[in-house]
Order: sequence, then structure tokens, then C-alpha cells
Amino acid sequence: MSSNNKSPEIQNSPLCLEDRRPRCFKEIIGQEHIIQRLTQVAKNGFKSKLFALIGPTGAGKTTIMSCLARAFLCENSINIGDSCGECRSCKTKNIYDQYYVSEWTGAGLNNHWNWWDDDGKYLIGHEEHSILIDEFQDLDENHQKSLFRDVEKTKCLFIIATTHENKINDALLSRFAANKFLVRRPSVEQAVQCMKSYCLQVGLTASDEQLGRVSRHYGQNLRRCVEFVFMAQEQACNSIVTEDFLELIIGSDPVSTTPPQRTRLRL
Ligand SMILES: [Zn+2]
Repeated sequence: MSSNNKSPEIQNSPLCLEDRRPRCFKEIIGQEHIIQRLTQVAKNGFKSKLFALIGPTGAGKTTIMSCLARAFLCENSINIGDSCGECRSCKTKNIYDQYYVSEWTGAGLNNHWNWWDDDGKYLIGHEEHSILIDEFQDLDENHQKSLFRDVEKTKCLFIIATTHENKINDALLSRFAANKFLVRRPSVEQAVQCMKSYCLQVGLTASDEQLGRVSRHYGQNLRRCVEFVFMAQEQACNSIVTEDFLELIIGSDPVSTTPPQRTRLRL
């Protein structure tokens, strides 16, 4: 691979959302009220073991989740209230490559309730572990009760995200004094700002006005907005969003576009 290439990272690496997500609280656009509280939580040394992120699809729960897990693992977060980007843990590009991070969905856990990793090591009990459970509303009641016991006997950090607050066992939240966060979808301006940062990373050209239309079209659902950026980067001629292209994607069909297959898309 030639090192003379002007922007090798953009041109040569496969598009992977996980590698391009914000990695620390200060990179997250919007959600100021949540970031403020999380900064304090990190400075206090993560006293609570259970965090619950509640909000609609595409509000940015998964991004907050991964930034929180990074801050928990960071050697310096107690001093700066965020992950530092410098320590060994922070240098891991993809948070899900970290041995100390286990990521599940509620539905996945229903079928895999053993807490063993692929190497046969028992996850629960390792105090540095972060256990992320997305789509928590799909975890059935019995397993929520089991989780109750597991949170009790471990020092792991549990971060759960759900679209349905009423599907979380109340006792679980109160017993562990869960830090609860209501995550709302961003404003159009914030969604545009977020899309612009992804455009820069993947090398897509689009105007603010065009991105504003995309954002409104998807009701500021960040997942859909970012999917658009990745899809347009692959499909728009010369990675430039033209009016024709935009018309094709959002002009007549108000529903959606199919996201590209090889991109992991979870916001
Ligand atoms: Zn760090």
C-alpha cells in the first residue's frame, strides 16, 4: 500500500461504524445534560454498578453506552471525567474488541444465559468488566431476575439500553440505585452536525441544507441519518450527494433505504 496516498485511512479501510463512533463524552454532539452527569460519575469513580439509558431508536444510546464503557476502563477517567484517548485501554480502536467488554442484546441473552465467553472464562466476577445489554426490553422476566442476582454478586459495570422503560424490572433499578438517563433524539441542527462529522470521516460531500433535509426525513433518527452517510458514500457518484441522488433516496419514498450490508449499524 503506497504511503503517498493522500488520505489512506478513508480510501483503504472498510467502512465500519464502530471504528468511527465518538470515543469519549466530549465528542458526542448534543445530550449535554447526560454528558454532564456522566462526567461527574466518572470523576466519582463509578460508584453505581448499573446504568440505564432509555430513549427511542436512533437517539444515540449505543454511542453513549460505548463511551461510558471506555471511560470505565480508562486509567485516567477519575481525573478528567472522560476517557483520555491515551492509555492502553483507550487506544483500542473498536471498543467491542476489548476483552473486558461484553456486548449483548436482550434477545441474545435469553438464549445464552451462561456468562461464559468464547475462551471459557467466567465473565462475572472480574471487576473491570463492562457488560452492555442493548434492547433490554427483549430480556424476559426470569432472566431479569437472574440479572438481579448477578449484579449483586459482581463488581462488573452493567449498562443497559432500552426503548421501553416500563419493561425494566423496577426492583432492579431501585435496588442498585441505577443511574437512569433519558436520551432524546437530537435537533435537526445537531443531527446535521453529527452527519457532517461522519461525512468528513468517510469522505462524503454534502451540503448542510441537504443533510438537514435528510435529518428531517428520518425524524432526526441518528441511526438512519448515519446509515444515509455510509450508503451515500458507497453509492453516490464520486461520493458527492447531488440533488438527483437525494431525490432518488428521500424524494418520493418516505419510508427508508436499505443500509449497506457490510456496515455494522447500531446507534
Ligand atoms: Zn484512557
